[in-house]
Amino acid sequence: MYPRLFEPLELGGGVTLPNRILMGSMHTGFEARNAFGELAAFYAERARGGAALIVTGGYSPNVAGNLSAHRAQFSTAADGKGHEAITHAVHAAGGRIVLQLLHSGRYGMHDGIVAPSPIKSPINPRVPREMTAPDIEQTLDAFAAAARLAREAGYDGVEIMGSEGYLITQFLAQRTNQRRDEWGGALANRMRFAAECVRRVREATHAAFIIVYRISALDLVEGGLSTEEIQQVARAVEAAGATLLNTGVGWHEARIPTIAQAVPRGAFAWATRRLKEAVRIPVVASNRINAPEVAEAILERGEADMVSLARAMLADEAFAAKARRGDRAGINICIACNQACLDHYFIGEPVSCVVNPRAGRETLLVLKKAETAKTIAVVGGGPAGLVCAATAAERGHRVTLYEREAELGGQFNLAKRVPGKQEFAESVAYYAERLKRAGVQVLLNHAPSGNELEKFHEVVVATGIDPRRPDIPGVGHAKVVSYADVLNGRVEPGAEVVILGMGGIGFDVALFLAGERRATVDAKAFEAHWGITHAASVPGNVIAGRENAPKRRITMMKRSTTPFGHTLGRTTGWVHRAELARHGVRMLKGVEYRRIDDAGVHALVDGKEILVKADTVILCAGQLPRREVQGAHVIGGAREAGELDAKRAMREGAELGARL
Ligand code: NAP
Ligand code: SF4
Repeated sequence: MYPRLFEPLELGGGVTLPNRILMGSMHTGFEARNAFGELAAFYAERARGGAALIVTGGYSPNVAGNLSAHRAQFSTAADGKGHEAITHAVHAAGGRIVLQLLHSGRYGMHDGIVAPSPIKSPINPRVPREMTAPDIEQTLDAFAAAARLAREAGYDGVEIMGSEGYLITQFLAQRTNQRRDEWGGALANRMRFAAECVRRVREATHAAFIIVYRISALDLVEGGLSTEEIQQVARAVEAAGATLLNTGVGWHEARIPTIAQAVPRGAFAWATRRLKEAVRIPVVASNRINAPEVAEAILERGEADMVSLARAMLADEAFAAKARRGDRAGINICIACNQACLDHYFIGEPVSCVVNPRAGRETLLVLKKAETAKTIAVVGGGPAGLVCAATAAERGHRVTLYEREAELGGQFNLAKRVPGKQEFAESVAYYAERLKRAGVQVLLNHAPSGNELEKFHEVVVATGIDPRRPDIPGVGHAKVVSYADVLNGRVEPGAEVVILGMGGIGFDVALFLAGERRATVDAKAFEAHWGITHAASVPGNVIAGRENAPKRRITMMKRSTTPFGHTLGRTTGWVHRAELARHGVRMLKGVEYRRIDDAGVHALVDGKEILVKADTVILCAGQLPRREVQGAHVIGGAREAGELDAKRAMREGAELGARL
């Protein structure tokens, strides 16, 4: 079904990969914990799942290059010994694995950071120390020594992290490299570090040792490299001995989304094609490749020789094996939310996946056949109920799922209408398919009575939430509607809109009303929206984004005085804020609501009475648990509505499904 994806790929040195699927590097949060058992289980599952080549999370070759104060380093014999558990497990599962060597440069969150020039990054308060010439030599030698150790630990190769704004990119761009010695100035000097790094790593290893070089195919920052310069870098690292060129997109300080839901699927493959035009070694496309048809189309268009899937492999460890069988409906698709992967990493928690709660918990959430098959009623077909019903039925229980609406999905059916959140429809379809395969009886348009539930051994209450109706005078006015009415299309808001409540749903509703759906599904519209150019000579490939005439006057309000959007994801909140700011959405905090009337919303802000005119007032004021039935097990929003999100709902569903 996906013939190009499953064509073998010959690398240099006599190595042939069985297919074109690379599992891209992800920080798992286990690196700095030396959790080798967890990492071995995590990677081995993905090797069994058919990934041709796996790249680990980033390890620094020396102290200065660590990403944080916690050591995630690969520089001693003891480090190598620990990693043997990983390489053995992956090889036993029939896979190949390379170790990513990442020097954070000025992005490191610790006090010993270094960089080509002492220029602070906008995303780190620390100023790096300028590297001396001996520092540079030692760092290059550290890369080579780490590669030698990696080979001894059984790794099939290394990936040298030369993108995303880390040390190697800091050498390449004038934005961060203002040196006057042989490591700065003209591009030939600025790319010396990258080429020399590859050369020394090759020299320290052997011809069959895979050297993946992750190149920044698009910097997306002012003062970054142009496409023409990037092609020169690509040729230099090829000449120095790289085996494969993997694509990186955008520095971490770029103000253009590169992997969030705002990015259309496969939107950056064109940049990989530019690399392919420059070199003879195979090139790998990356970013928002979450479905086999997207990957196949990239290969078919000749944009790349291989595709890198990272989060897609968290969402489904057997992505490759299922795609090979043509089982598209059986693939759990990554919805690009970042909520349990990147957002976890940034708060120091091991990564997992919203739609696949077992990811990263392979050793904890073990699914065993049930000792006695029971009859189980799951009431509610939202995220929690779907996962619970599927998991329990796969373990051998006889499960009936009741859903009072005409379709499965619960809150996901509202979320999927928000620009960028179309992917939620994939999760509902995937779990519905699992229910079908596991023989779950699904009863739609059916709210069960107490009598009906009595006959089951176990009853799971997953009835979700009801939106909160705050007690504000005038809340019964005809212009006051719920977010569900708006997202469902039952109400068309007027020209002046007030949104009460600024949690995840308040932001979703604002994006629904102001955002641009086309820019999240169509790569050309995305580029115009965010200001990305294909012009080969423009530094960083960035230009001004398109201005948007606001369609409505939108005001968002909340009572608390915390920063706007502080409950949104660490790695995605800024995208939503930027999007709403460019549409002129006004945000007010510290608001005391007085009343709602024909004129609009009357409130007290900073001690002053204000009136915000409104044709429509949309309530996004949080949720209350919905408990219309009784049962021994209550999960998701029905259990606890505050701070509810899909991550907790699905995790609770999986944990209960595994326990029943
Ligand atoms: P939420 O995040 O808890 O936000 C509720 C909002 O309502 C807050 O802004 C709160 O602000 C306000 N509020 C609470 N009680 C109120 C009252 N009595 N009167 C007036 N205002 C009141 O809940 P949500 O927006 O409904 O989201 C539900 C869950 O889904 C959240 O956990 C959210 O993280 C998740 N979700 C996440 C995303 C995402 O993008 N990551 C998107 C959608 C939903 P004040 O108290 O300051 O007024
Ligand atoms: Fe994808 Fe979200 Fe899972 Fe991360 S948590 S892998 S973004 S679905």
